[in-house]
Amino acid sequence: MTTSEQLFEKAKTLIPGGVNSPVRAFRSVGGTPLFMKSAKGPYLYDEDGRQYIELINSWGPMILGHAFEPVEKAVRDAIQHSFSFGAPTRKEVEMAELITTMVPSVEKVRMVNSGTEATMAAIRVARGFTNRDKIIKFEGCYHGHGDSFLIAAGSGAMTMGVPDSPGVTKATAADTLTAPFNDLAAVEALLDNNHNQVAAVILEPVVGNMGCVLPEPGFLEGIRSLCNKHGVVLIFDEVMTGFRLAKGGAQERFGIVPDLTTMGKIIGGGMPVGAYGGRADIMNMVSPAGPVYQAGTLSGNPIAMSAGLAMLHYLNEHPEVYTRLEEIGEKLTTGFRAGLVKAGLNYTINHIGSMFTMFMTERPVSNFIDAKTCDLPLFGRYFHAMLKRGVYLAPSQFESLFMSVALTDELVDQVILANEESLIEAMNKGE
Ligand SMILES: *Cc1c(COP(=O)(O)O)cnc(C)c1O
Repeated sequence: MTTSEQLFEKAKTLIPGGVNSPVRAFRSVGGTPLFMKSAKGPYLYDEDGRQYIELINSWGPMILGHAFEPVEKAVRDAIQHSFSFGAPTRKEVEMAELITTMVPSVEKVRMVNSGTEATMAAIRVARGFTNRDKIIKFEGCYHGHGDSFLIAAGSGAMTMGVPDSPGVTKATAADTLTAPFNDLAAVEALLDNNHNQVAAVILEPVVGNMGCVLPEPGFLEGIRSLCNKHGVVLIFDEVMTGFRLAKGGAQERFGIVPDLTTMGKIIGGGMPVGAYGGRADIMNMVSPAGPVYQAGTLSGNPIAMSAGLAMLHYLNEHPEVYTRLEEIGEKLTTGFRAGLVKAGLNYTINHIGSMFTMFMTERPVSNFIDAKTCDLPLFGRYFHAMLKRGVYLAPSQFESLFMSVALTDELVDQVILANEESLIEAMNKGE
């Protein structure tokens, strides 16, 4: 048994499913999850001392590579001054100023401890602001594990939500309406049929959580104008895309101004941090400025703020990071496309900047229904073939991969070669 296998056996007796977040368990690809011990730059090292090239980067945060020195130093400096005060600090002011500079639609911002907290608070504020109860979300978009977001609509976009998870009440589900991504007409119909009842539309402007799915031309613009027409708060969930697709996130890249934005992942530099912010008139609803309650004992934690500030300062001051990420993304996906051709496959690759997914389906993927046509057993075999060649991918077809600037051209070439070989191996094994 490998050390990872031993640890996983023990973990399963102590932690539900052996993991502290479900996708880590490798359920959708089979096999035993690798237990990680350390990481530096583009490499991960597991408990058995094996090295992997990183293509997840902690689901986004490690955009500058692991253990990036300025972030590490900021944390080292901060720990000398105590880990937490439960009182305001200078760093929180600096953080708010930096966020509002990088993401201009954010006039005021509140720090929290995860992306989940940020989205839960954002819809509460939108409801308080509009005095309405319902929200619209999109099938396949993930906004953390808050009750209101764990809803699928089945096939009918007009139907009320039904819970995805036991423990979410029917009453909560009934306030969540869902539409297929990229389907403006469905959103329009929901808004018409629920006149003056919808508080917010929330979406990932570029979806990462059903695999990488891009907004079709006009979709984000259309949502923006529907929200204006119906007095609905538009929330961009940029927990994945924020500070990644551009310094100012997807909203900068696509030129759309949301009312509220939720952030996470990169914003903490690897520490547990989230944030929500936006229009000052809406954010002034938040306690103690306004009546909408939201709080956190460890929110704005000085160690977490130090890591996040070091990360964001670096990104703000080094625009070449984004140029390089574009180059890496272009080179990697061009290589993956060539690999598909060599393997005689005509599968779909969705790509933007440093995010991409190779979907094991010939169908173009612009929503969750399309994504679900993928050959999942093939993906599982491909995943393990890549792992064997030292490339660490997301252990699910329905995830985006995230690149870091630590990927050198040589490493990109290695990954491209591994992809070619793995595709062929996965196909042969299936026969
Ligand atoms: C990861 C993610 C979340 C949840 O953030 P956590 O920090 O895991 O709670 C919310 N929204 C999006 C778009 C995400 O990718």
